[in-house]
Amino acid sequence: MPTVQHEASLLIEKKVKLTPSQQHDIPRQYYNFAKYGDLKSRVESRMPLTDYIGKTEYVSDMITRKGIRMRKIRILEESRETIEVTLWGDKGEDFQKEVAKDKILAITGTNVTIYNGRTQLESTSATTTAINPDIPELETYIQRFKNLKAKPNEDTATEITIGDLTNVDVNQPTKQYRCTARIIKIDPLRNWFFAKCPDCSGKLYSQRQTFACGNCDFTDEPKFFYSVNTIVTDDTGTVEAVFFTNAMNDMLNISCRDLVITHRYTDQKIIPEQIRVLQGTTKVLYFNVRPDRTIAINKAENLESASTTATSSLIPTTPNPKKYHEKRTTTTSIQPDKKQKTLGSHHYLL
Ligand SMILES: [Zn+2]
Repeated sequence: MPTVQHEASLLIEKKVKLTPSQQHDIPRQYYNFAKYGDLKSRVESRMPLTDYIGKTEYVSDMITRKGIRMRKIRILEESRETIEVTLWGDKGEDFQKEVAKDKILAITGTNVTIYNGRTQLESTSATTTAINPDIPELETYIQRFKNLKAKPNEDTATEITIGDLTNVDVNQPTKQYRCTARIIKIDPLRNWFFAKCPDCSGKLYSQRQTFACGNCDFTDEPKFFYSVNTIVTDDTGTVEAVFFTNAMNDMLNISCRDLVITHRYTDQKIIPEQIRVLQGTTKVLYFNVRPDRTIAINKAENLESASTTATSSLIPTTPNPKKYHEKRTTTTSIQPDKKQKTLGSHHYLL
């Protein structure tokens, strides 16, 4: 099946001879932009690849997850819908972050996938990106996007100050709040992560460099989750708050698993430098207030990116680690023979 949608396609075999053309008015790039509404029907179908055009709203730095480098971009389309694009490896490295913001971006040869219920685009080896692409319609696109704003998100969080948290009704534990606050302290006495059993999902207990499940003799790598205890403050008050995995990923660009396995921060009580430097930084925090009044932070934005976004769902999502595990092999997988057994319970040596 052809990779681009066209009534004709060329099959280039061994005997084909290629000679340079003297004609100079042939466009260098062929685009066949999909509309936002077309994307759902293309999910998980590898061909044809998808070209897309829109205004760049957000470009992340390079992110490392499970040892894989990537960059996230958010594009606003004419329909006022935004979509996230993941540029893998070199495609991400080569992307000119500094010049892309608020420019028209044409991206070609992507796959349409679903992550966390949202449609997204992922680069393939055929992907090209062009900022303000050299096409006749460029000026039209620039004019069209000039005053276009993303659709507001329905599930926006309620703005709150820390001082007002005492008045919150804790019987609505799923309600989302948002507040801008400074992390003044990361609690050095509390565990900064926890691990779960890959088989039964039970919480693992740790002894020195090992993790053990009370129920099973697991052989796969444990699952690691951030749970960083902090004190945050704004002008109105100070409160204890726990940053969970999604919020930490927003701030750190490194997964908990990579800190533990790749960077060898295997001690739950020793806070990695990457986390300690967050002390003193101010973030836009999204959180729930649990019935016991603990503050569970599940999303954190930098002030700069938060002030330029119109909705609350625009920050890069974490890729599904399972999915990429299947697609790419990691170099840091742990050999089952490192597993240690001690008196009746099963230990996993890091
Ligand atoms: Zn288990």
